[in-house]
Amino acid sequence: MSDERSEIKQVLEHVEKFLKQQQDLHGNYLYARVAEQKIQNAESTVKSKPIQKTPEEIDLFGRPATSAIPLMKNSRQQDHPYPNEPWVAASSLADLNNQICGCLKCPLGNTRTNFVFGVGNPNADVVVIGEAPGADEDAQGEPFVGRAGQLLNKILEAIKFKREEVFICNILKCRPPNNRDPLPEEIEMCEPYLWKQLEIIKPKMILCLGRIAGQSLLKTNDTLTSLRGKFFDYRGIKLMVTYHPAALLRNPNWKKPAWEDVQLFRKTYDELRSKA
Ligand code: URA
Repeated sequence: MSDERSEIKQVLEHVEKFLKQQQDLHGNYLYARVAEQKIQNAESTVKSKPIQKTPEEIDLFGRPATSAIPLMKNSRQQDHPYPNEPWVAASSLADLNNQICGCLKCPLGNTRTNFVFGVGNPNADVVVIGEAPGADEDAQGEPFVGRAGQLLNKILEAIKFKREEVFICNILKCRPPNNRDPLPEEIEMCEPYLWKQLEIIKPKMILCLGRIAGQSLLKTNDTLTSLRGKFFDYRGIKLMVTYHPAALLRNPNWKKPAWEDVQLFRKTYDELRSKA
């Protein structure tokens, strides 16, 4: 490869890394000045066509940001009813898994290798929630078993939780192709399974990994930067959002704030337990 080509390749790699970091924090939105300018230009030339005045939402590669999670009008998740389906009456995690593991409610059911229900202690005080299974998880039927999973195990150990002591699952139970972000309609179909899991487990606290998991559960478009490191109420359970371990693998400089988050999580857990 010529020097010039390898320099261009390096620059592109830096740009890609930067954009990925921004995506981890803010999602698939680019509020480009260029887009605003384009809107103004279009307004002055094509009067008959209705123009959307908000900044254009495009993903990192210039496509419409279809997978961005829309802000829901009803932010009180508790108000959303269960669907009228038989699994709602499940009395244990095993029973629930048996009833839902053949789910074909969304197209991900046709592309998955395994339905990834979740693993861990059915009476856990802490539930850890990620985004969706990746390739390793899809192959093995267990959440967080790949590189991000190894790091999650270390994070849990660092705050004195064993993997078997907590319950680990995802917002989506099936892998989105090419690990793309979950679509809003997939989240809508799958999230009631998570409500039921939480209803059975009755955890004291939830640790939510990454922007997508946080935004999905809290029904917000707020950035990870603004969501992380504090507590929210999710269906009566204390919920904290922190960095996704896969993002920490890509951006080691986020390990310090992540460490602060999980230390606060542990401290709050200890306080809750001492009161119980
Ligand atoms: N990332 C997730 O969000 N969940 C997994 O199970 C694995 C990787």
